[in-house]
Amino acid sequence: MLLLLVIGCSLTSLTIWKVWSSRERALAEVDVHGLNLTQALNTYTEGIVRQSSLLLLGLVERLEAEGDGPAQIQRIKTLIDSQQSLMPQLSGITIYDRHGHWLMSSNRPIPAGANSSDRAYFKHHRDDPSRESFIGPPIQSRANHEWVVTISRRFNDDAGQFAGVVAVTLGVENFLRVFGKLDVGQDGAIGLSYTDGTLLVRYPFREQDMGRNFSKSPIYAKYLVDRSVGTASYTSSLDGVERLYAFRKSETLPLITTVALGKDEALAAWRIEAGLSAVVVVGLLGLTGLIGWFLILDIRRRTAAEEALRDAQQQLLASNRQLELLAMKDALTGLANRRCFDETLAVEARRAQRDGTSLALLMIDIDHFKLFNDALGHVAGDACLQAVSKVLESCVRRPSDLVARYGGEEMAVIMPATDSAGATVVAQLMLERLQQAHIAHPGSPFGRVTVSIGIAVGTGVGLDSLPDLIEAADQALYRAKAAGRNGMAGQA
Ligand code: GH3
Ligand code: MG
Ligand code: MG
Repeated sequence: MLLLLVIGCSLTSLTIWKVWSSRERALAEVDVHGLNLTQALNTYTEGIVRQSSLLLLGLVERLEAEGDGPAQIQRIKTLIDSQQSLMPQLSGITIYDRHGHWLMSSNRPIPAGANSSDRAYFKHHRDDPSRESFIGPPIQSRANHEWVVTISRRFNDDAGQFAGVVAVTLGVENFLRVFGKLDVGQDGAIGLSYTDGTLLVRYPFREQDMGRNFSKSPIYAKYLVDRSVGTASYTSSLDGVERLYAFRKSETLPLITTVALGKDEALAAWRIEAGLSAVVVVGLLGLTGLIGWFLILDIRRRTAAEEALRDAQQQLLASNRQLELLAMKDALTGLANRRCFDETLAVEARRAQRDGTSLALLMIDIDHFKLFNDALGHVAGDACLQAVSKVLESCVRRPSDLVARYGGEEMAVIMPATDSAGATVVAQLMLERLQQAHIAHPGSPFGRVTVSIGIAVGTGVGLDSLPDLIEAADQALYRAKAAGRNGMAGQA
């Protein structure tokens, strides 16, 4: 039972450990995968931004060198139109004057009265003398409502004063096309945002997220504080889905790329494997339990059979002892029988010789018993025999003394370590007790049942022949009878 329990427990814990470590492995693989993706996307984004910056640098240089008169603008437009097919990510290039009026738009005519002085990038360049390029928040195009991200630079006039802005617009659509080629599952997402948490592009696209600030989300609030690359896992406050995030801050640009995968999805394969393991283990446990159960049943059956066998053996031994006892007992009187008498006499004679003690033998015969039977019947005769036996038995006290039925209405008493005087005392007691018992005997001259007793005592070599000892007792009995019965006689 204990063994079965130990096997079951170790099998279960081994499986739990195995399933758990494979889960950890699956999650680690997802992290590595996510980090690799952020690296690739980061490189892609940096490439586009760098290209745009270079393009803008060239344009700014020309505008500052040649001015922004209509002829110059027209020449720039021709140049851009011929270049644009080389950079498919670019949605368009626009040049604004110092008031925000459109001077040129690369792929469409300038809308009447178009002014972009309210756009964030315009305000930035107007108010900030820096010549660096600026990545603006995503905006929705006024012309076609498409979402675009702008990269822009300012250009100055000869006096070094703000003269306008050149902006490249990158269609969010173009980013989504690239991001969409990556498999991030149903719950996954790819994001490109500004270091302050402003979202530039999110795949899958969600209108409501555009330009939204995520600086409160754990990635910005907790993880990006002291790291520029890493992974995280938490439940989105937006849709309640738990995701595994990989994030990377660009080393050269104020941009952050994040790749998120749904945790449930990421663990789907692991879950199937764990389920299979569980089924196999439960099956194995069941089988072990079943085999164990049968084993236990078998052991119990065997033990029960062994017990039954032992019981039967005990019973047999008990009945054997009973039989042995019966074989040593006289059925009518309950005294030792003749066989027991013979064996006991032999044993006690040897012991007496060995110990140097004397062995006394009494031969007792009921007087006129034939007459008793004749007068009262054999049934009464049997009852009389039983009564006399009881009286005789009551007269011996030592455990080693033995009262036996020698045959018919003749009884014999073996008394080890007893001399003639001792034997006489016992015989006398027997006569007295029989007198007290007063069993009526109509045919007897005494009017009651009496016995005659012959006493023989043997020691040493005198015990060599038991028939001689018995013969001596018989002789004494004969003399007691001859002396008138209801008395005793010793050896002549
Ligand atoms: P006594 O010994 O005094 O000389 O006379 P007795 O009448 O006893 O003579 P004896 O010993 O020869 O007779 C024995 C009688 O005891 C014979 C038989 O009828 C009777 N007897 C012996 N065994 C049994 C017994 O088991 N039951 C009954 N009822 N009688 C028995
Ligand atoms: Mg007799
Ligand atoms: Mg007799």
